[in-house]
Amino acid sequence: MEKKLPVLWIVIPCYNEQAVLPITAPMFLDKITQLAQEGLISPESRVLFVNDGSKDTTWEIISGLADSDPHFLGISQSRNRGHQNAVLAGLMTAKEYCDITISIDCDGQDDINAMDEMVRQYLDGCEIVYGVRSRRDTDTWFKRVTAESFYKLMNDMGAEVVYNHADYRLVSAKVLQAFSCYKEVNLFLRGMFPLVGFKSTSVYYARHERIAGESHYPLSKMLGLAMDGITSMSTKPIRLITGFGVLVALISFVGVIWSIVAHFMGVAVAGWSSMVCILCFLGGIQLLGIGVIGEYVGKTYMETKKRPRYIISEKTWEDQDKTDTLIG
Ligand code: UDP
Ligand code: MG
Repeated sequence: MEKKLPVLWIVIPCYNEQAVLPITAPMFLDKITQLAQEGLISPESRVLFVNDGSKDTTWEIISGLADSDPHFLGISQSRNRGHQNAVLAGLMTAKEYCDITISIDCDGQDDINAMDEMVRQYLDGCEIVYGVRSRRDTDTWFKRVTAESFYKLMNDMGAEVVYNHADYRLVSAKVLQAFSCYKEVNLFLRGMFPLVGFKSTSVYYARHERIAGESHYPLSKMLGLAMDGITSMSTKPIRLITGFGVLVALISFVGVIWSIVAHFMGVAVAGWSSMVCILCFLGGIQLLGIGVIGEYVGKTYMETKKRPRYIISEKTWEDQDKTDTLIG
């Protein structure tokens, strides 16, 4: 009997992407057509756009695409919730219909030709295939340095991430089924998938420049993502603070002995400047410590609420029996 070809759904988060969608959408369609012709995937494969509460005409464009070709599908989030939640909404919807998903940004920065190799790796038995950027020549110097320090910092802080892997990856529906049991609201997908396990590998590709439009990840958002990534994947920063507290306490102990000795030897001087310096330093360290712990308390607070991570308000296709996947 002939082996059944896997149904692939490409999941694409879109936020205010009216400038790029008309250019990249046909590229995704061509890709699934080509892969289907080569006999790697089923012709029933689809391109799923996730509108992340865009304020421009992105959703109109997606609806238009869905009307023009049955391979295009779209879901819309009830409001903007951020890239990670948009990808999750797409993956959780797709897993009900397909065998494999590939998540990719819609701006053409990630080389879609890497999908061929990803699918081949899946057919060879891998359940997760990470897309890894081999070069960053097209990124600005600043973006490259900040992004690379990001991965280093993440790993140093105990959050395991695949170096230079963003959210371009193939994940099988089997893995997504297991992944749906990870209920946390603080999402950091690239750190969470390695935790699920299963056989995985990496595929390397060169990253291009954005075809049109602007990046939604300025430095402030990148720092936010790094902070979320570290604090949702590991508690190492709290331990570092404890270690630092012990060190400062030891130094203070030596200082106390020294000041008592100096007092009795009669060499104690006014020392206003040194006092102020020490006070400021310790004050700063304490605030930093409270801030880091506060970050975890905040995360715990958000987790205890168990609010939905995505709410799908519109779909470009009808089916009655899958309504429970609209909120998750
Ligand atoms: N995106 C999203 N919601 C947001 C911000 C971004 O769905 O709130 C999408 C965006 O449309 C794009 C992807 O996430 O497909 C990555 O964003 P971007 O290209 O701006 O980030 P960069 O590649 O510069 O890091
Ligand atoms: Mg981009």
